[in-house]
Amino acid sequence: MVELARDAFVDGRWQTTNRRFAVMDPFDDAVVAEVTDSDDALVELAIAAAARAFPAWRRQPAPVRGKLLGQMAQRMLADEKRLAEICVRENGKPTKEGIAEVRYAASFLAWFAGEAERIYGETIPASDAGLRLTAIREPVGPCAVITPWNFPYAMLTRKLGAALAAGCTVVAKPAHQTPLGTLAIAQIAEQVGLPPGVFNVVPALDGPRVGGKLVRAPQIRKISFTGSTKVGMSLMRDAADDLKRVSLELGGNAPFIVFADADLDAAVAGAMVAKFRNTGQTCVGANRFILEQRIADDYTGRLCKAIGKLVTGRGSDPGVDLGPLIDDAAVAKVKRLVEDAIGKGARVLYGGAPSGKTRLVPPIVLGGITSEMQLWREEIFGPVVALRVARDEQEAIDLANDTEYGLVAYFYARDGARQVRVAEALEVGMVGVNEGLVSAAQAPFGGVKHSGIGREGSRHGIEDYTNLKYIATRI
Ligand code: NAP
Repeated sequence: MVELARDAFVDGRWQTTNRRFAVMDPFDDAVVAEVTDSDDALVELAIAAAARAFPAWRRQPAPVRGKLLGQMAQRMLADEKRLAEICVRENGKPTKEGIAEVRYAASFLAWFAGEAERIYGETIPASDAGLRLTAIREPVGPCAVITPWNFPYAMLTRKLGAALAAGCTVVAKPAHQTPLGTLAIAQIAEQVGLPPGVFNVVPALDGPRVGGKLVRAPQIRKISFTGSTKVGMSLMRDAADDLKRVSLELGGNAPFIVFADADLDAAVAGAMVAKFRNTGQTCVGANRFILEQRIADDYTGRLCKAIGKLVTGRGSDPGVDLGPLIDDAAVAKVKRLVEDAIGKGARVLYGGAPSGKTRLVPPIVLGGITSEMQLWREEIFGPVVALRVARDEQEAIDLANDTEYGLVAYFYARDGARQVRVAEALEVGMVGVNEGLVSAAQAPFGGVKHSGIGREGSRHGIEDYTNLKYIATRI
């Protein structure tokens, strides 16, 4: 049994300060571990270590970097039960989702292990016979990686895999609620023999303090952030002072449209994943259901029936589908959004407003949603289904695009021409057509509008960690 890592991982060593903070189980506030609270000096050590390790790491042949990433992926899979348990304890998600997350997270390391060998450049025909023009891709340099609590492994490896494959080094700052998973990945990095300083982890209670330090450090050449739009925007402003590269994976407000020609049972199955994974706490969560009038009642009935089978409870208990929300603020937000909607005329079709006394929030279905309600504009981040009816295809598209966000949209339809038309009309970075789960290591994940900048996963994910250098050679 590998011991739970609790200290910062800096320059290949486990380091601590004289301060610790408690990581708590969101189900009952039991203390899972006391973790090192990285102070400014330790964060500076991590930045310096990443800068020192960079020249040698970038010179390693790509297959060597890829091999280490591949070994990390294999170790994650071999240890998936333990890693999932850590995730269930610190995040609260059901065990089956913990396992799914470990596999999903490992798939990014495996994918980028292969992509490391495919960071191709270009040769360009020159108009001058005496010149040879080439463009090569080089790593941007040491990167800061700042991640949220909702997918502690996957949000890390999506960045880490691409960065290390490209030849960058990394300082990671996990969310204060869920540092243990990131530290467990650092243990794996140590076990496979990743050179010191290539991957550093600085857990901390005060995210803005450490995040601010990372974004202002001149040695850090790129910030890759996943989290709220508000924080992403402020990081981008700060990064501008040093013209650092930024990748931002931010909030969403996904529409989930069911057209009259859809396979309604498939649309129910898709909704269960798109809405209820991680108890609704996903950036790609279906936030606004838009139903074409003709099937609205039929679909609502089928959906409520499926929702009735969901079991809420402690994530580690067998058969649980929905764990607790991450903290009291998350529960208070869901309560506010539901009460606001009901106050403005929404009808409760299933369940009821959360009591606010426990973090277990059973599913709620609301009908009669309008644009004036707060949950039409804000990410709900909880198990609330908000239903709205559209007259026809055009109104459904207009409603779907009625948001400042643009991460993902889902729609269900059988008609082939409609599938193309609607997919092209939606203002988002990703579309699920008859599919409620679009995330995959091979595919470009990311948003438009206030949902972010850049793509993760796929061959594009690695490009975000490289600079294109053009070389003109006189022969
Ligand atoms: P958050 O409050 O923005 O925090 C995300 C990370 O940023 C945490 O590590 C946090 O540290 C740190 N942080 C907070 N304030 C900071 C600051 N001023 N400067 C630098 N770092 C700072 O978001 P969250 O509540 O943890 O996560 C939920 C949000 O993430 C949702 O909006 C969700 O949609 C989004 N998300 C997006 C994607 C995507 O791929 N598009 C994926 C998952 C989640 P502390 O925890 O220590 O405060």
